[in-house]
Amino acid sequence: MPAGRHVAIIGAGAIGVISAIEALREGHRVTLIDPGEPGGEQAASYGNAGWLSSHSVIPPAEPGIWKKVPGYLMDPLGPLAIRWSYLPKALPWLVKYLLSGWTEGRVEKTAFALRDLLKDAPLLHRKLAEEAGVPELIERNGVMHVFTSRGSFDSDLGWRLRKKVGVEWLELSADEMRQREPDLHPRYTFGVVVEEAGRCRDPGAYVAALANHALASGAVHVRDKATGLRLSGNKLVAVVTENGEIPCDAAVVAAGARSKQLTASIGDPLPLETERGYHVMIENPESGPRSSMMASDAKMVVNWTNKGLRAAGTVEIAGLEAAPNWKRAEILRNHLLGMFPKLPKDIPASRIKTWFGHRPSMPDGRPCIGYARASRDVVYAFGHGHVGLVGSARTGRLVAQLVSGKAPEIPLGPFAPERFL
Ligand SMILES: Cc1cc2nc3c(=O)[nH]c(=O)nc-3n(C[C@H](O)[C@H](O)[C@H](O)COP(=O)(O)OP(=O)(O)OC[C@H]3O[C@@H](n4cnc5c(N)ncnc54)[C@H](O)[C@@H]3O)c2cc1C
Repeated sequence: MPAGRHVAIIGAGAIGVISAIEALREGHRVTLIDPGEPGGEQAASYGNAGWLSSHSVIPPAEPGIWKKVPGYLMDPLGPLAIRWSYLPKALPWLVKYLLSGWTEGRVEKTAFALRDLLKDAPLLHRKLAEEAGVPELIERNGVMHVFTSRGSFDSDLGWRLRKKVGVEWLELSADEMRQREPDLHPRYTFGVVVEEAGRCRDPGAYVAALANHALASGAVHVRDKATGLRLSGNKLVAVVTENGEIPCDAAVVAAGARSKQLTASIGDPLPLETERGYHVMIENPESGPRSSMMASDAKMVVNWTNKGLRAAGTVEIAGLEAAPNWKRAEILRNHLLGMFPKLPKDIPASRIKTWFGHRPSMPDGRPCIGYARASRDVVYAFGHGHVGLVGSARTGRLVAQLVSGKAPEIPLGPFAPERFL
């Protein structure tokens, strides 16, 4: 496939805009199709926790998770909720999700694959941020995980597998942690610092800056919603939108959690589900962590952003259309206040912002990156679940390599859409 193809990229979240930058670098002409503003609140890429955790290689489903799920669901403050009316629709996905984590071997396979995708991600993001003129948005000074006991860390399969795939970390005793994090609640008595990881100080602003950089480098943004792909035999003719057709030589499906209809329209019914998540953000907080941290009990990330202290997490299975349940964001706020007792309990509502969005999730925790079955002119790049911001840097490069007919820089077998077809 020659350089200089017209590549239409559907979706201008982190995956779409970095794919645009990398496709331009390969000498292609790029049209970004998205009805929304790149980096806008409609996208998961806006409201995520901002972790560039190259060690986030463990899929959400692990062996024995089925035993924990009832407890999570019964706990009103728990990290997982299912809207019961949506359960019949979600069931096939949930079964695949549980099966994909049924054995340690399956989880290990995903861990090795994700390590390939995520390694060096903080550095790749820093370079992209420099190119886009916003180096200050990407920091590479590590993240911390905090635990209520050493035992809960020791018994975690995830950390054993992280060691196996080459992740290194520093372990902190209660005293050492206290010195680093004086405001953290004393129930946290053990900590782990992963120094290779990074963080983004404002994911929405970062994606917007990357999009502006792509536009300044020649990409065009068409504000329209893609509804399908028109093929003639195995050749792509156009992306079909609500307002007509955009003729192109290649297309990239990067519409996040809304990619499913597009792939189904060309014969690839893929099990993509939304793991809905929330964030709560406190402007000018009175207290907080010194570093960016994840609380293992609340399964919540706390990260400083340029707009305030953001706590993000929780998984809600309720589909794309149901209204948000803002109690999920309240739970995050309560956990945050519990983690940092010096935060006043009566922070005025005007200083608290909440957000909800859709993680695009495949059951096995691995994105789909590869060609459509019907045509090698169509490349899939979605389903990054919990690791779409950190994973976007290498995904963009892989997309450009696939569009150019070049060998991908990492093995794509574990990410092949065909694994579900
Ligand atoms: C609470 C929460 C915390 C998270 N924390 C982290 C984290 O710390 N680190 C991390 O790496 N990841 C994190 N994630 C996951 C990460 O945010 C996502 O995996 C990632 O943003 C997905 O990017 P995307 O570009 O695929 O999708 P999105 O960012 O959702 O972008 C998709 C875009 O496609 C557009 N679109 C949709 N349908 C169409 C259509 N038909 N035509 C044209 N355009 C369309 C949308 O308007 C949108 O702009 C978190 C997610 C959540 C919800």
